Amino acid sequence: MIRKKRDGIALDYDELKFFIDGYVAGTIPDYQAAAFLMAVFIRGMTIQETVMLTQCMRESGEQLDLSEIPGIKVDKHSTGGVGDKTSIALAPIVAAAGIPVAKMSGRGLGHTGGTIDKLESIPGFRAELTTEEFIKSVKEIGIAITGQTGNIAPADKKLYALRDVTATIDNVSLIASSIMSKKLAAGADRILLDVKVGNGAFMKEKEEALALARAMVDIGNSSGKRTMAILSDMNQPLGDAVGNALEVREAVATLKGEGPEDFYCLCRELGAVMLILGEKAKDLKQGREMVDHLVSSGKAAAKFEELVISQGGDPDVLERPDEVLPKAKEQVTVFAEKRGYITSINAESIGISAMLLGAGRAKKDDVIDPAVGVVMRKKRGMQVIKGEPVATLHVNNRDNLEKAEQLIRNAILITEQPPQKNEMILGVVE
Ligand code: URA
Repeated sequence: MIRKKRDGIALDYDELKFFIDGYVAGTIPDYQAAAFLMAVFIRGMTIQETVMLTQCMRESGEQLDLSEIPGIKVDKHSTGGVGDKTSIALAPIVAAAGIPVAKMSGRGLGHTGGTIDKLESIPGFRAELTTEEFIKSVKEIGIAITGQTGNIAPADKKLYALRDVTATIDNVSLIASSIMSKKLAAGADRILLDVKVGNGAFMKEKEEALALARAMVDIGNSSGKRTMAILSDMNQPLGDAVGNALEVREAVATLKGEGPEDFYCLCRELGAVMLILGEKAKDLKQGREMVDHLVSSGKAAAKFEELVISQGGDPDVLERPDEVLPKAKEQVTVFAEKRGYITSINAESIGISAMLLGAGRAKKDDVIDPAVGVVMRKKRGMQVIKGEPVATLHVNNRDNLEKAEQLIRNAILITEQPPQKNEMILGVVE
């Protein structure tokens, strides 16, 4: 198999199954798996191979059966970014429209955050549910958000760890099969993918992101689950807040119609597509109007409150987030060094700065501080004068403060001329 892939020959299902099962069972050692991954990285895979690889990875572990939950279950997945608290606002919006949301989310690693860490900043919130609790909650209140339950796609867990240390992460077939094996095993009927493009994302260029979106949509559809993807901008942090409790506060504000414009724009678009997938809206226009109504009527916020109560969190987070959520000891402001327009904000650097303050993990076992992070005071396209605040750091531990401040200063480019407008939504793939 290694030789065949090295020579650019496509593999069949039995060969891929042999590899995945053997690697999970330990009969294929890491050094052969590493050579195989590198051959795939260099030679690529056909879409048929990618679909079959995904199927083998999906079948390597438990597959959730959500059939006892009535209705069309729609899942959403983001390829990861900085300040991406979308699931926290979007899941209650969609659930408030009557679409059952059984959402399995991840933890943060490196410069990107994870929904589960963010939700755990709400005092009492239990984000690790058993499969039974998870399904019960969706049946009772139409929504649950949990970390991965059970043994979903163990082949991906093992392969991802190996890819991480063999420079074989950023390949379309490998990323697509990794994400889709978990999504397909998680049991939803339809899937929406939010593929991030830009300096804070895996895919820096639109063409690469489009290829990834296309591959994942093809995998989903050929597995019998209607799948769509949206390409969205990650050339600056999403919204203003980066850091766990800070992001929950922003998601709560958004559910009350008081969130940052770019973040609401993304929630509105993703929500509209989920409403189409869940057969509640006939087109994007109707979907967007429904999202606006669910937010302005307070229905989405009420659904969030139900979710928080159901998972043991303090429901006062909705009305009194500043009192309920953990707060950092001090705030440190970063000021504009000259007059002009904010032309670019390197999202990855902002994410690393928040991580250095303690909001994220450099290594898998690092403990995070829910209170700390960065809040952008200026975003791309805005005018600034010298000495104006551009970002606020929320700090508990000053050890890395200087480095974190420097990263923010270097991340923000100020020019005399305003930049071209960046669209938040760069495309839809069906
Ligand atoms: N996220 C995943 O789950 N897998 C990848 O390969 C990349 C991002």
